Amino acid sequence: MTLSYLTHLECSYTGKEYEAGKPHNLSEAGKPLLARYDLDAIKGSITKGELAKRDEGFWRYREFLPVAKSVNRVSLGEVVTPMIPLKKMARKEGHTGELIVKDEGRLPTGSFKARGLCLAVSMAKEFGLKHLAMPTNGNAGAALAAYASAADMRTTVFCPDDTPRVNIEEIAFQGADVYTVNGLITDCGKIVGEGKEKVGWFDVSTLKEPYRIEGKKTMGLELAEQFGWELPDAIFYPTGGGTGLIGMAKAFDELEAIGWIGSKRPKLIVVQASGCAPIVKAWEEGVEHAPLWENATTAAAGIRVPAAVGDFLILRAVRETNGFAIAVDEKDIFDSWREVARDEGFLLCPEGAATYAAYRQAVKTGQIEKTDKVVLFNCATGLKYPMASDSKTIDRTKTIDYDQF
Ligand SMILES: *Cc1c(COP(=O)(O)O)cnc(C)c1O
Repeated sequence: MTLSYLTHLECSYTGKEYEAGKPHNLSEAGKPLLARYDLDAIKGSITKGELAKRDEGFWRYREFLPVAKSVNRVSLGEVVTPMIPLKKMARKEGHTGELIVKDEGRLPTGSFKARGLCLAVSMAKEFGLKHLAMPTNGNAGAALAAYASAADMRTTVFCPDDTPRVNIEEIAFQGADVYTVNGLITDCGKIVGEGKEKVGWFDVSTLKEPYRIEGKKTMGLELAEQFGWELPDAIFYPTGGGTGLIGMAKAFDELEAIGWIGSKRPKLIVVQASGCAPIVKAWEEGVEHAPLWENATTAAAGIRVPAAVGDFLILRAVRETNGFAIAVDEKDIFDSWREVARDEGFLLCPEGAATYAAYRQAVKTGQIEKTDKVVLFNCATGLKYPMASDSKTIDRTKTIDYDQF
């Protein structure tokens, strides 16, 4: 029995259609392919009430996903990620609306890369692929390694050599062959692309296969369901390749097409670091594509992406939702990281902290109203990142000065 309502794939740039039943990378135009479904059939197959009774995790949305056979649904214990109000931070800003973090750090492998790679690996399993490869700044490689190992597939992963050790070791520990490369993620991507013919691995780079977006789409489905099918006013998204932003926009369009939500959209807001802000620059200049950002630097590795193959899709989603793009300084990111941890007891990741810094900036400029319902994305657990230490030491062999405490 087939469970998938996937009908075909479509070039996101030219609209040309591609057959769904086999693996694909980019379209002939060199652009991402988007999965298309029989939305009327989805509409007739499930109600909101039936959905509400299902188990947590990505597969509760299976009608909206491309995997046909249930044996191919790889799973590592996914959860519906919680929405946590930042009450003290909101009070500080005089925010009377809601300020909520969707905490993706609770997912398997500690980041929302689990969403995309769970789906990409499940589809690779459906196609009988045996060897997957990708460039990564860390979190995607970890999710790929974990899901592919669970599905008995081989993985080869390339990281820039300044990727934090903890990420590199996590990837290797979960079964991947990992190589560090003296370059950026774009240089690693080149190796994966060139090796495709020679080695025969399948390229699962961001947006270079169609199903990671489908996995990230579950963020939009989940958000809509968690908000009772009334979307919030604004979503701040730390943007690297932009899969999540594109995926959420796609989720909202599909939900509207089946009549589960109306036409209201949250402002989709691209957040980047000022040391690597190609999308923000393109947004400000009003152009369709974002040229490669030279000498990209930020310690928020998840958003250190100098060129995005889906740049025009990110910019389109921002424009169509009356959103905007905003760059935040490195100091602001790391001050926010510490401030939210200390004041609110919430350990964001630096990329998540960037969304808080951007939110604060946008309140100041009036781009966000204090009455708005705002969602910030925390995309990974903060525990994967090196933290500045504020600890002191005690010599237990000497007299302890208790006045110091
Ligand atoms: C990958 C990643 C991002 C960027 O996500 P995209 O959907 O690729 O733009 C942001 N933060 C973290 C922690 C990531 O791992």
